[in-house]
Amino acid sequence: MNDTSTPRLHRRDFVKTGGGLLALSTLPLLSGSASAQTPARTAGATGPIVEGFPPAELVGRPMPKGLELGLPPEERIGFAIVGLGDYAANIIIPHLGDTKKCKLTALVSGNEEKRAKIAATYGISDEHLYSYETFDEIADDPEVDVVYIITPNVFHRELTERAFAAGKHVLCEKPLAVTAEDCQAMIDAGKQAGKKLMIGYRAQYDPYNLMAIDLIKEGRIGTPSLIVADHHRLLPLEEPRNQWRAKKDVAGGGSLYDIGIYSLNGARYLMGEEPVSVSARYHEGSGRPEIDVEEGIEWRLVFPGGAVANCSSSYLTTNNKRIHVQGDKGEITLDPATDYFVRNLKVTDRSESKHQIEEVAISDSNQFVPMLDEMAASVIENREPKTPGEEGLRDVRIMQAIYRAADSGEEVELG
Ligand code: NDP
Repeated sequence: MNDTSTPRLHRRDFVKTGGGLLALSTLPLLSGSASAQTPARTAGATGPIVEGFPPAELVGRPMPKGLELGLPPEERIGFAIVGLGDYAANIIIPHLGDTKKCKLTALVSGNEEKRAKIAATYGISDEHLYSYETFDEIADDPEVDVVYIITPNVFHRELTERAFAAGKHVLCEKPLAVTAEDCQAMIDAGKQAGKKLMIGYRAQYDPYNLMAIDLIKEGRIGTPSLIVADHHRLLPLEEPRNQWRAKKDVAGGGSLYDIGIYSLNGARYLMGEEPVSVSARYHEGSGRPEIDVEEGIEWRLVFPGGAVANCSSSYLTTNNKRIHVQGDKGEITLDPATDYFVRNLKVTDRSESKHQIEEVAISDSNQFVPMLDEMAASVIENREPKTPGEEGLRDVRIMQAIYRAADSGEEVELG
C-alpha cells in the first residue's frame, strides 16, 4: 500500500529544482498540484506558509509507512449489537472502529436512554435502533449483515434463532448457550438459513495464545502432558453485571460457564486434542443466598494420549487467569492468559538440564479486532469462521459433563 515512488526532497534536489528559494516560498503548501507553473498560494489552501517549502515539484507526500487501510465503508460488514452491557459498550463497540472489515450499523437494547446515548456517540440513526420487541424488524434493515449477541447466556438461543429468521449472520458470545441441545438448535437454524454462526472466543484470536499454540506444535516444550488452567474472580453482587451471573436460570451455570470456560477452551486448543473423560468436584461456596449457581469447581480432563488438564474456576478468590502447559522438554506459562489487555507468555527450556526462561513480547496483541474481522471475512468470503458454532457446542457439552461428574462423584466419559 505504500507509495514509495514519489521522491523525497533532499538538499541536493532542492538546489536542482532551479526555482530558487524566493519563488518556492510562494507555492501552495497543501495543494497536491504544486508545480513551478503555479507560483501563487492556491485559494482555499490552509496551513502556514513555510519559507522555502514546498519545492517546485511534488515531493514528500507518499502514503505513510505501514498504513494498512481497511475496506471502504460501503464494502464493510454491518454489525448490529444486541445487549448494550459492559462487554458490548466498553470493549466490543469501541473496537469495531479499529477493524478493517466491520462497521457498527445498529443497536438493540431494552434501555432506550442508554441506547440513544450510545447511538448518538457512534452516529447510528433512529431507524437502526431496536428493542427486543422490535428486533425482528431488523430483517428489513439492509445496513445489518451480522447480529452480535452480547446478552446474558439464557437469551443466546432465542436471539440467535430470531436473527437467522431475519436473514442475518450471527456472532454470539460465550457460552454459546446454556445446554448442548440449545447450541445444536442454533447451529441447525444457521444451516437452515444458510447463514454463518460464530462464537466470540477472543482468546483464539489472541496473538499470545496463538504463539503458545505454535510453540507447542513446534515441539519447544517437547510432548505436552500436563496443563494447569485456573480462572478466578470475585463476584460482588452490588454490580448489576454480576447479578444475573448468580442466577442459574439466566446464566445457565456459575463460574464454570462464565470464566472456567476459558480454562476448558484453553486446555483444548493448547493440547490440540479433545478430552475423553472428566472428573470434577465442587468447592464450598460463600453461602450468599442470592447465588444459586456453583461458585467454585475444579475438574480434570484426560486426553487420548494420556495427558491431563487440571482446571479450576471460582468466584471465591481474586483475579487469576493463568494457563500452564508442561512438556518433557520445558513449559509454557500464559499469565495472564485471557485478560482483555495484558497477556504474558513465558517459555522455559528445561531440556538437557537447562533452565532457560524466555519472555515473549508481542507488540500488536489486540485480540478483539482479529476476532471481529474474522466474522466479517467469513461473510465476505462465504466460508466457515475459524470458531464456528460447533466449537461453542463442544465446550457446553463438556461443561454439562463436568457438572454431571461433580454431582455424581464419578468420572464421566466424553463421547
Ligand atoms: P452485562 O450484564 O454487563 O450486560 C448484559 C446486557 O444484556 C445488559 O446490559 C442488557 O443490555 C442485556 N440484557 C437483556 N436482557 C437482560 C436481562 N434480563 N438481564 C440483564 N441484562 C439483560 O453482561 P456482560 O456484558 O458482562 O456479558 C454479556 C455476555 O457477554 C455474556 O454472555 C457473557 O458471558 C459475555 N461476555 C464475554 C466476554 C468475553 O471476554 N468474551 C466478557 C464479558 C462478557 P440492554 O440494557 O442494552 O438491553
